[in-house]
Amino acid sequence: EMIYRGRYYNGSRKSLVEAAQAAMSEYRFQHVLRVEEMAVALAEKWGVDTEKASVAALTHDYAKERSDADFLAKIAEKQLDPDLVNWGNNVWHGIVGAEMVKDELGIENEDILTAIRQHTTGAPYMTTLSQIIYMADYIESGRDFPGVEEVRTLAFEDLAASVGWQTGHTLAYLIEKQVPVYPGTLLTYNAWSVK
Ligand code: GDP
Ligand code: FE
Ligand code: FE
Ligand code: FE
Repeated sequence: EMIYRGRYYNGSRKSLVEAAQAAMSEYRFQHVLRVEEMAVALAEKWGVDTEKASVAALTHDYAKERSDADFLAKIAEKQLDPDLVNWGNNVWHGIVGAEMVKDELGIENEDILTAIRQHTTGAPYMTTLSQIIYMADYIESGRDFPGVEEVRTLAFEDLAASVGWQTGHTLAYLIEKQVPVYPGTLLTYNAWSVK
């Protein structure tokens, strides 16, 4: 189990795990622990600071179970993009949730906050850390969907190709379900999935 050197979070890994656990249901907490395990493995593979990957993974869904009212209040307080009010939990919990991680957990590292912001929709430019969190969320050991084994392998062979794979499949899924696609998701698709 990883020993934090206190560069990104003012406390031990155990205290951050406890903060995550207190913020969500048991089933989502177990997902978060699996994302951390996958993110650390990807960080080792791709030469990213494993402590940074651990902190980002443990906090990526910190806000997922917060109320709509909490998100709308934070959008106003932080004067975030006014269009955000037209979206919902799926889009808010990363983009707005990063502000809650910053304000409530005191995590200020911009690479980590950006990885949290980008974990659902991606972005046209993503750091290796952002790509790792985006992929670890998708391929953690509890995920089961057609192609999951292939994309797990791909993430360790060609990280950018795996980002493109996820983005294409997620967009197809959203279209199939006929749910609104966040503009950022389309920008990610154009940047990472189009050949
Ligand atoms: P989770 O928080 O671990 O469940 O995973 P994510 O944060 O990656 O995704 C949360 C949900 O948002 C998933 O059901 C995605 O399919 C969905 N999602 C991803 N992109 C978009 C989008 O552009 N629009 C909408 N409406 N939902 C999206
Ligand atoms: Fe999420
Ligand atoms: Fe995701
Ligand atoms: Fe998640």
